[in-house]
Amino acid sequence: MPERAIAGMGHRKGLHRMSLSANVDVLIFGGGIAGLWTLARLRTLGYSAALIERRFLGGVQTPASQGIIHGGIKYALDGSASAASEAIAAMPALWRDCLAGKGELDLRAVRVLSQAQYLWAQGVLTSRVRGFFAAKALRSRVVRLTGAERPEAFRNAQFRGAVLRLDEPVLDLRSLIDALSKLCGEAVYRSAGDARITWETGATPSVSLGTENGDWIEVQARSLVLAAGSGNAELLAMLGRDRPPMQLRPLHMVMLQGALPKLHAHCLGASVNPRLTITSYPSVRGNVVWYLGGELAESGAGRSQTEQVICAQRELRELLPWIELRDVRWATLRVNRAEERQPLRRRPVDCCVARDAGVITVWPTKLAFAPRAVARVLDSLRQLGISPQPGNTEPLAGLPRPAQAPLPWEAEEKWI
Ligand SMILES: Cc1cc2nc3c(=O)[nH]c(=O)nc-3n(C[C@H](O)[C@H](O)[C@H](O)COP(=O)(O)OP(=O)(O)OC[C@H]3O[C@@H](n4cnc5c(N)ncnc54)[C@H](O)[C@@H]3O)c2cc1C
Repeated sequence: MPERAIAGMGHRKGLHRMSLSANVDVLIFGGGIAGLWTLARLRTLGYSAALIERRFLGGVQTPASQGIIHGGIKYALDGSASAASEAIAAMPALWRDCLAGKGELDLRAVRVLSQAQYLWAQGVLTSRVRGFFAAKALRSRVVRLTGAERPEAFRNAQFRGAVLRLDEPVLDLRSLIDALSKLCGEAVYRSAGDARITWETGATPSVSLGTENGDWIEVQARSLVLAAGSGNAELLAMLGRDRPPMQLRPLHMVMLQGALPKLHAHCLGASVNPRLTITSYPSVRGNVVWYLGGELAESGAGRSQTEQVICAQRELRELLPWIELRDVRWATLRVNRAEERQPLRRRPVDCCVARDAGVITVWPTKLAFAPRAVARVLDSLRQLGISPQPGNTEPLAGLPRPAQAPLPWEAEEKWI
């Protein structure tokens, strides 16, 4: 622990007017899935807690995600249960409990876009799907579909391949963010100007937050939770820390909208990653948006928007040639995944929750892992001996509130 870590941007010591002082058990940075789930859980357990979001309520990666509550099947495409698929296998059931109002959070208000994600293969890879289906460890979690059981996009006579149904619900991000925000109540704030953090050896961290009239509110927090996605590295640096180290993995997602059938599916590719992952959303114009990820997005970071759209068109013409693309509109989105750094920048197999004295850093790695990550945050608080105590959050009422994060396809100017 440094003797004294003072952090702040755009804030000059001594020039501010400090007016009020608040205190909480836990102060969270970041209003994506990790921060919102943490705050919602802490409130149900009686902790005094508050969350500071720098920009949009809902996060950066969270609204850009495909909303699939993975059960690890896509990481077991070689037919064997890997470490990644083991860690994530329990997540769909845990989320389904919440969606039914029987879990740790009441998420009954969340819209389920599809009860299942599908997996399809064509050509020589069809036999791999059959082998995959035969793997004993996975058989109970997948169903092979034929004929009319298949999603509409695979009922075309030209389709020659296999389709599996995976037990992985796909969620509407807007309703998920809304439901979590409601559970978080009034405890979500924005700082006008970046927060300043002071942390002295043996003392509780102290955070100064700016109000819009130029005053600063001092918050004494028994612990800080850094759930700021790609912002965690900057917050750690402010605290004089470089651990846990962060990696960013850039993605270049593609969107198309038009008269498309609803489809939520991974296409099996030659590598362990799906060649293409499609999820579908209703668009503001009343038609359907396909949001494309998978290998297309992972390999597309270096492509321009035009090149990436051409690449997506080629993939769709090859994989689903009977889907009419003549009148669709296109858009792309660049977004980074922020995670704990791995050797060779591999994808982490689990969520990251790391504690350094009273500071807990969280990267859920996946939306699906949010409850698992938050359970670890709660363990860390117990290890710190922090039990729920009444706080004083009244002074925070003077802070501005963050606006709702837009979903990627909602910005009209993106479409070409
Ligand atoms: C394109 C894409 C598709 C994905 N699809 C899926 C999927 O289908 N299923 C799945 O399980 N996972 C998926 N993921 C992964 C999942 O979305 C992320 O792991 C998860 O959303 C990360 O949540 P988060 O809260 O950590 O970060 P974020 O959602 O990025 O939120 C971090 C927040 O912190 C704020 N912040 C930053 N710095 C500061 C600061 N100094 N002070 C205060 N606030 C700050 C940011 O403004 C942001 O709002 C996908 C990810 C991407 C990028």
